[in-house]
Amino acid sequence: MKRIPEPFRIKMVEPIRMTTRAEREQALQAAGYNPFLLKSDDVYIDLLTDSGTGAMSDQQWAALMVGDEAYAGSKSFIRLQQVAQDVFGYEYVLPTHQGRGAEQILFPELIARTGHSQPIFISNYHFDTTAAHVELAGGQAINLVKAEAFDTGSADLWKGDIDLNRLQETIATTEAGQIAGIIITITCNSVGGQPVSMGNIRSVSEIAREHNIPVILDCARFCENAWFIKQRDPDYAALSLPDVIREMFSYGDMLTLSAKKDPVVNSGGLCCIRDDEDLYRSVSVRCVPMEGFITYGGMTGRDMEALATGLREGMNEDFLSYRIGQVAYLGESLCQAGIPIQSPTGGHAVFVDAKRMLPHIPPEQFPALALTNELYLESGVRGVEIGSLLLGRDPQTGKQKPSPMELMRLTIPRRVYTNDHMDYVAEALKAVNERAESIKGVQMTYEPPVLRHFTARFS
Ligand SMILES: *Cc1c(COP(=O)(O)O)cnc(C)c1O
Repeated sequence: MKRIPEPFRIKMVEPIRMTTRAEREQALQAAGYNPFLLKSDDVYIDLLTDSGTGAMSDQQWAALMVGDEAYAGSKSFIRLQQVAQDVFGYEYVLPTHQGRGAEQILFPELIARTGHSQPIFISNYHFDTTAAHVELAGGQAINLVKAEAFDTGSADLWKGDIDLNRLQETIATTEAGQIAGIIITITCNSVGGQPVSMGNIRSVSEIAREHNIPVILDCARFCENAWFIKQRDPDYAALSLPDVIREMFSYGDMLTLSAKKDPVVNSGGLCCIRDDEDLYRSVSVRCVPMEGFITYGGMTGRDMEALATGLREGMNEDFLSYRIGQVAYLGESLCQAGIPIQSPTGGHAVFVDAKRMLPHIPPEQFPALALTNELYLESGVRGVEIGSLLLGRDPQTGKQKPSPMELMRLTIPRRVYTNDHMDYVAEALKAVNERAESIKGVQMTYEPPVLRHFTARFS
């Protein structure tokens, strides 16, 4: 893949502040050794997440000025609805405050439809809030991503694919109607922002339709997934990105979207439904008290304008080549230094394999968190743990769910950092890698009951 320079110039800058090692030690201690609890002012380069952290374009900022703040029937909603209908090909469009807003209005309805006492959702891999909303709605979340996804050294190009054999087996061993939905996460965030192939999406959809199971696309990074399909699958090389995207969504029945990712807005989300009017009605009923009236769903008119603009910008091929190229650039620097990462690199982040880098730290001492803390102390760079801590406990048994991977995610915000920043991150991690054996694990001292990773504390 040829890396291209930034397809934009910088019009406005935001200063960032370097701290001393002593300041960082104090800040991390005050945060209970949980980087989520750091003040962003104490962070030099923030790679915690690509969620809501992108830089909006001049066109998006301009769009804010024409936002229509009408409570009902806002012009900005109508525009967003038209763009979403055109991009995804789904008739019904509900704005939500962010991706989890879409999850909380949709999942309880899908579960209610099963009428089963032990409803199940199947996914390649449920994102953390997605699993939480499945469980809060009384369902069980089963992940069936193919085994190659967990082998960070494997060069498989489609590590986000669902294992079709296990999908068939799971369907065969459950009762008819027990499965509330199959959620295809594109790209598959939790295993490294890894793409799902078009063939896999199509096959999952065929299997689901045979069994009358709805397919939900959890599509925060649908543009990145489409870009990978176009790059890696010769059948799609000649298609335009909007056409690849249309085909991906043709295999689903509904979608939940965190607009904070590929559409580059600071907050917002969508729940769209292809053509099931009954479902749309019942989800709308839930939307009003939880998210807001159906033509704003927790978003301001101006934010809906910025999202309508961002949906199209996020699909720009030059932008995606630059962006995914930047992620690959950081990944290559780390590989050259012998640091184990999930390869090939995915769309939005480099995932460092802490299990391989710190084999002396057991899962219950959260090796990827220990690594994240060490990187922060070294450099002021903030990454995030994607492993046992994030996965949490089984709600039925209360036992830690066994995590197949212990990863530190270095997530690249869109259009925010340059490759000089990436070089700095790579240098810092190389220094940490050189003293890997001396890094110690952490102990949890406070554990919240739901989504514990956000507010837990450690020693
Ligand atoms: C971010 C994300 C969500 C949740 O969206 P929020 O906007 O953070 O509520 C759901 N699924 C995936 C794959 C995500 O990346």
